[in-house]
Amino acid sequence: MFDITTSGELLAEFMAEARDQRFDAAGRFHGPFPSGAPAIFASQAARMGVRVAYAGRVGDDGFGDLIVARLRDDGIDVGAVQRDPERPTGTAFVSYQADGSRRFIFNLAHSAAGQQTLDDTQLARLAACRYCHVMGSSLSSPAAIAIVRRLVARVRENGGQISFDPNVRPELVERPGVREALLALVAGCDIFLPSDADLEWLAAPGEGMDASVARLMAEHRMSLLVLKRAAAGCVAYRDGERLEVPGLHVEEVDPTGAGDCFGGALIAALAAGRDLRQALRLANAAGAHAVTVLGPMEGCSDLATLKRRLDAAGDDQ
Ligand code: ATP
Ligand code: MG
Repeated sequence: MFDITTSGELLAEFMAEARDQRFDAAGRFHGPFPSGAPAIFASQAARMGVRVAYAGRVGDDGFGDLIVARLRDDGIDVGAVQRDPERPTGTAFVSYQADGSRRFIFNLAHSAAGQQTLDDTQLARLAACRYCHVMGSSLSSPAAIAIVRRLVARVRENGGQISFDPNVRPELVERPGVREALLALVAGCDIFLPSDADLEWLAAPGEGMDASVARLMAEHRMSLLVLKRAAAGCVAYRDGERLEVPGLHVEEVDPTGAGDCFGGALIAALAAGRDLRQALRLANAAGAHAVTVLGPMEGCSDLATLKRRLDAAGDDQ
């Protein structure tokens, strides 16, 4: 029995050294770094000491070795991480712009990541979990959507809970079936973890944030909604109550992975039996720590690091 199961894209990421670095001219890149939103989530959760299982696919190459070694070192069960004999590991190149935005070149659909399958034995093993976490970024193709759908249905049959971070990417939602898959998970999850921007995407025209939250919680089965608000921290809604926890003051070096680390820490803390306020504090600390470190998964942290961050911030938990 796992505490948390997650599935989805695994990739090697390369980061442009200079701000505004272009992709159509020679330049320096740092990497490869292990990456993929569900992998960042899983690494953060596992480092906090809960049992995490991962399903994904990498190539039979050095990038694949790097990623599998990292997941394993973090204590993640990689029994359902497949090796593709033909296609290479997925990659992403990222360049940070002076205005804070990011430019990407992804090679996922035609890489090993795009060939992921989940056989019945793997499905049965992974679905024995208390929480199954889904990242919206993993709903990128009909095949990927089908894997998530099967996993979610089986976890639900077993009595596990579904957590969902929609991670809405404008370039993905226009693909066939993606919008429908996102909305089906909004309707079917138990714990919903949108960012401000995700909630805006879901809001009806002219609807304010609090009204959107109230409507989503009334219309759907979710019992906990946590809104991620970057440097401002988070707000949780449960049983008609609203719990706001301010963010930690840190110097932001690299925003990539903050939301994924936040989610990983939150679900790990809940799985470990912590109360909601404590879980939100740890999640804020994980998100804040993540932005201080360069590299997608490099800012994942263990419990001791999070407690030190909270102590330094004067938090008395
Ligand atoms: P991502 O860009 O990884 O998808 P997101 O949009 O899902 O992130 P954010 O709200 O940006 O989510 O960040 C998640 C959490 O990380 C926040 O709720 C907060 O706790 C923490 N965090 C993010 N940025 C900062 C920051 N600059 N200072 C302090 N905490 C931060
Ligand atoms: Mg996000």
